[in-house]
Order: sequence, then structure tokens, then C-alpha cells
Amino acid sequence: MPPGRAGSLESLRRLNRLRVIRALRDEGQISRAEIARRTGLSRSTVSSLVADLQADGLVVERPEPGLAHGSSGGRPPILLSFDASAGAAVGVDFGHSHLRVAVSDLASTILAERTRPLDTDHDAFAGLEMAAELVVETLADAGVAKELVIGAGMGLPGPVDQGDGTVHSSAILPGWIGMTVAEELQKRLEIPVMVDNDANLGALAEAAFGAGRDATDLVYLKVSSGIGAGLILNGRLYRGSAGLAGELGHVLVHPEGIVCRCGNRGCLETVAASGALVDLLRRSHGDDITIERILEAAHAGDAGCVRVIHDAGRALGTVAATLLNVLNPEMLIIGGHLAAAGDLLLDGMRESVARAALPETSRGAQVVAGVLGERAHVLGALALVVSEADRVLPTRLALAG
Ligand SMILES: [Zn+2]
Repeated sequence: MPPGRAGSLESLRRLNRLRVIRALRDEGQISRAEIARRTGLSRSTVSSLVADLQADGLVVERPEPGLAHGSSGGRPPILLSFDASAGAAVGVDFGHSHLRVAVSDLASTILAERTRPLDTDHDAFAGLEMAAELVVETLADAGVAKELVIGAGMGLPGPVDQGDGTVHSSAILPGWIGMTVAEELQKRLEIPVMVDNDANLGALAEAAFGAGRDATDLVYLKVSSGIGAGLILNGRLYRGSAGLAGELGHVLVHPEGIVCRCGNRGCLETVAASGALVDLLRRSHGDDITIERILEAAHAGDAGCVRVIHDAGRALGTVAATLLNVLNPEMLIIGGHLAAAGDLLLDGMRESVARAALPETSRGAQVVAGVLGERAHVLGALALVVSEADRVLPTRLALAG
């Protein structure tokens, strides 16, 4: 089997593993048959995933107490429970201007969380030092010893090469390009670190715990200072050959438009990312206008702010329509800073999608806001660790030794 194929089978298994863990977490105690019913996975897939979780010490089984000597004479169903306290996970989300760290148990229930503003032109090494510091503080808040942490997941606003772990050049943090981030943070934390594009992590989180929990094909669109998409196709996170899949922010929308940070002209980001909205409103609303104030004013009915958000939605919808025609997903989930605009943004998107996508494709795809809000990316980072627990645990042991 070629490596790419094996890789996508592997990632399919990861998402399914998260869905099984979620069923275990929601129910407390649950049988294999009930997990299969709740997740829509086959009995044999569930049995094999449960066996893996048992081998990792994360799932324990016990016969249902009341039925042990049941009058029906049948074999009592074996109930499973997830041992969320068997370890802890750390999630780190680097945004354009914020840093968020969360500590969770292995069911991705957040135990403690801290955020800190980031200078947008910060030096990457200073950023990593700050992250390492914040991790130590957040672990203390959660009362979790570092020895209990099985790994840290980290999201960055840009594509990350999953082969050598370097940050690609379209990342929105210029100081980070070419850096092997996982290695650097691992050195500072002495726990295994996995890094991914934050849009991929948002897609993973919404698919595992959020708006996309019943979908097998979805597009998660992160709209903040940058624009990126995370793709879940046939139940798998799709990263492309070099980790660049989903770089939707750099799709050309105006050939004669303004120059984008990537060097091309008229990219989607130059008309629909938060900075573009701020630029559009400076003349009318003053130099000190910010994206937070635009969102606030739009909700209060300010005509100019409503207009630029609606127009951004239309531009996003036109590009998304192409994606819907090509990929035919069930859902288009909007996350990132601008998702807080709600229908002010989504109505513009729906308008363009209805206009530009094939009628069947657009009718088949819901355009919705994510339900995890600004936590989506850090939850995805935590989910990445939990879903890969079997891979990080041996690394953890090696680091400890
Ligand atoms: Zn661009």
C-alpha cells in the first residue's frame, strides 16, 4: 500500500477513535453495541478501536452490575468506561495576536485554560518561551503534574509540513517560517508535541465534538486575520501532499486587486479577512477602528459595518461554492474571529453559494457557524493528542527515560 493511502486510513481511524471516546465520555458506561449505534460505525470497527483503547489503559470493562445474574439467562452485556483521568493533554493555540493554552483530561474536558495577548510581530523563539511558561502555569492551575501529561498539541495559523514539521511560507506569522516548531517546543516542555494548521484542528474539533459530529464530509473555514480551510473528507482529515491543502485565503478573486502578503494580487484574504474589513472602514469610522468594534457595531445595526461583513460573506461564499462543487461536503462550518458575526456574515455566504454552486450541491450543504467558538482550535489541539495517544505514549516514555 502506498504511504499516502496508509496515512489516510490511519487518519480515518483517528477521527473514529475520537468519536468512540466521545460516546464513552457522554454515556459514562456503555456497551460496544451502543457505541456502534451512537457513532454509526460498524460493530467490528468499534471492537477493534475499543481493543486499542484498552491496550493503552484508557478503557476498562465491567459487567453491568444489575444484570450479572439476570433472569433472561443471556450473557450480561459488558459495559465499558473511559478512564479520562489516566492522563492529561495540553493544547496550545497560537493566533495572529493571541496565545491560548488549555489542559484537559483524556476525554478533552478542559481543566484549566489561560490566554495571553501576542505582539503580531513577535519573534518565534520568544513566542515559544512564552508558550512553555504558560503551559507550566496552566498545569499548576489544573493541579496536574507534568508526568501525567501524555502530549501537547499545537495549532499555528498556517500550513505545517507533516513530513519534516516545518512551517510553510504562507503562514501568517512571518517569524515562524521554516522553523521546526514541534521539536523546539518539545525541547522546552519535555513532553511529546504535535503541530498542525489551526484550520485543520478546528475541523477536527467541530467534527469530533461540535457542529459536524454527524458529518463524514465537511469543510471548516477559519476566517480571522488569515483565511484557511480544514477538510474532513470521507471521515478523514485531508492535508494534501505537503500539508498545504485548504489554503483558501490565497484563491484569486480580483486579478487587479491589492497585493496580498503572499505576493500575489487580489487573494480572498485581501477582501474578506479581518484586516481587509478594518481597512475598508478606516475612512468612514476612524483610524482606531478594530475588528472587535466592527462586529459590535454591526450587531447594533451600523450600516457600514453590516455592509462590509455581508460583502466579505459574499466573497467567501463565491470561493466556497467552487469547493462545494468540487468536494460535495455535507457542511460548511465557519469558525475564526469573523464567525461571531453570525448571520450577518453567513447570509452573504449563503447568497453567493446559492448563486454560484450547483443547485444540488448548495441545497445539500448546510452553511453554519461552528459551535465551539474561539476554543475550537485549542480543543482540536487537545483532540489531536488524545486521538494519537497510542503514538505519543511511547514517545512520552522515551522522553521520561
Ligand atoms: Zn495571497
